[in-house]
Amino acid sequence: MPKWALLVGCGQLDEPRRTGIRGTYDDRKRNIRHNGATITAKAIHPSQKGSLMPPRSSRVSDILTILREEGPRTRSELAALTGQARSTVSHRLAELVATGMVGETTPATTGGRPSAVYAFLGQSQIVLAADIGAQHAVLAVTNLKAEVIAHWSGPINVADGPAVVIPAVIKHFEALLASAGRATHDVAGVGIGLPGPVEFATGRLISPPIMPGWDGFDVVEAFSSRFSCPTFVDNDANLLAIGERASHWPHVENFMYVKVGAGIGAGIITGGRICRGAQGAAGDIGHVYAPMAENRPCRCGNRGCIEAFAGGQALASALAEQGLPARVPTDVVDLARAGNLETTHLVREAGRAIGSVLAACIALLNPEVIVLGGEIAEIGDPLIAGVRESVYRRALPLASQHLRIVPAATAGLEGVIGATHLVLDSILDPEAVNQAVSMGASASAQ
Ligand SMILES: [Zn+2]
Repeated sequence: MPKWALLVGCGQLDEPRRTGIRGTYDDRKRNIRHNGATITAKAIHPSQKGSLMPPRSSRVSDILTILREEGPRTRSELAALTGQARSTVSHRLAELVATGMVGETTPATTGGRPSAVYAFLGQSQIVLAADIGAQHAVLAVTNLKAEVIAHWSGPINVADGPAVVIPAVIKHFEALLASAGRATHDVAGVGIGLPGPVEFATGRLISPPIMPGWDGFDVVEAFSSRFSCPTFVDNDANLLAIGERASHWPHVENFMYVKVGAGIGAGIITGGRICRGAQGAAGDIGHVYAPMAENRPCRCGNRGCIEAFAGGQALASALAEQGLPARVPTDVVDLARAGNLETTHLVREAGRAIGSVLAACIALLNPEVIVLGGEIAEIGDPLIAGVRESVYRRALPLASQHLRIVPAATAGLEGVIGATHLVLDSILDPEAVNQAVSMGASASAQ
């Protein structure tokens, strides 16, 4: 349970005051008795950036957060939920309505004069999201509720380099914008997932093993200059983890998404937050040494990596050596679905090898849920059974007794949903909202 700092407002006091009290709370807001008076305590999570004495406009973001997380509310309900006066709430709502993010909706009529109901308008702006794998990409236009409005999926070969891939992605984004009936000025941000180690602070790829020409390339600038908005870049497995968790496991705090595509990678969520590590390389488990890989050369330049044995490209090569028609990972999927016994046997072996690496991850991270995604995971049973077999044999009971190992459930859209959340976490961050509102207020005052 997170530690919270307590802010209290008392009686007519307009601003909350920091008590210096620290405690452990699971409620955002509660009333407490202090020196015979009832005071309202508001818990501020440490992840909320900024000073403990928030600026006046921080309450704008409080209202927006309530409307986003809890749905439409009347002015009176917002006053009760925030502890603010109705007049203050009205003023804050007017500021939010001016941004276009909040609007009045039609209230349900229950007789008598209906109160105005305010709602977060998720469609007021849009996000362009891309989940780019080694040979395949999913691109989408999404709204501020991370709902997919339009999407495209198809072949894109990252090995062609950024000079080919980025203009192609921009072209598809433009076509998606047109099909969704939206304009460039509606784009609030761009989120891009790429299949290599991304230095998150700069959005640049660092020595990606399968991406010639991308090392140090400024992906952020390429999209920001075209769409005149902020761009965020992350490793694809991180975005898959964020998207799958947001869609299906929102209350699971310790979570892993393992992508078994051409290569292998993982996105790790601990304590409800994505774990990127010092430079953004956390979760890159494809290059962990695995005895089953028997010193096979890996595309990273090393030998004996798990990916060189259990990655989709390695499986395709191994099946081709047996004379089967397998050139790329999707051929492995087709053979398995056709019931080819050599393929299902090999995929199960791959699952066991991945499970042995995951057993080490489980010892370190103690996740509650591990989701298996990516092309090879679409095969289903042979892979998951192999993973479970190794994990339950190797992991200690305390870590594995409640552990669930399940296939991905978001039908290929988890990466673009994760990329959208990456953008939303930044543009709807309380500080960003307050800044946008105060800039709008000062612009209209001039
Ligand atoms: Zn490797």
